[in-house]
Amino acid sequence: MELYSGHISKLIEELAGLPGIGSKSAQRLAFHLINMPQDKVFRLAKAITDAKENVRYCRECYTLTDREICPVCANGKRDHKLIMVVENTRDLAAYEKTGRYEGVYHVLHGAISPMLGIGPGDIKLKELMERLQGEVAEVIVATNSSLEGETTAMYIAKLIKPTGIKVTRIASGVPVGGDLEYIDEVTLLRALEGRVEL
Ligand code: ZN
Repeated sequence: MELYSGHISKLIEELAGLPGIGSKSAQRLAFHLINMPQDKVFRLAKAITDAKENVRYCRECYTLTDREICPVCANGKRDHKLIMVVENTRDLAAYEKTGRYEGVYHVLHGAISPMLGIGPGDIKLKELMERLQGEVAEVIVATNSSLEGETTAMYIAKLIKPTGIKVTRIASGVPVGGDLEYIDEVTLLRALEGRVEL
């Protein structure tokens, strides 16, 4: 005998496929959703499909944005010769929140991980190298201080070195294995100011 109706089982199955959601959480969420007022559920469903349909990569930095060029890249007051490389849009948002970084970004959408089978070709590295054909004074590598983040930083340094462009790495004031997005602004700024040349 099936424990739940087919529709509930399907909903639980879909929710359980999301990152960080185990089967218990999926069940809790499913029942929460079913008990929510209809208009609220429709708003949530619409927000999900709208985001999926309208969000795309910025043509310059590859962050997720609603426009062809994201607000940071479109801002003429930013220093377009200073590029900070981050793993994802959440890390970009963390640095933007400090309000003190004046350069632009490059979003890799991941990090090199031999263990997970993610190679240099699976992240936006080729796109970064293409950007360096333009006028660039410094590339700040702000990948996480996890094994993957460090591996990626070393790989980027090796790629860029022959071009003669300055490559720096944010200071390791950032706790090892820590996701940039969870680190407070003071630590982020200290890491940025204390960056060292690779
Ligand atoms: Zn952009």
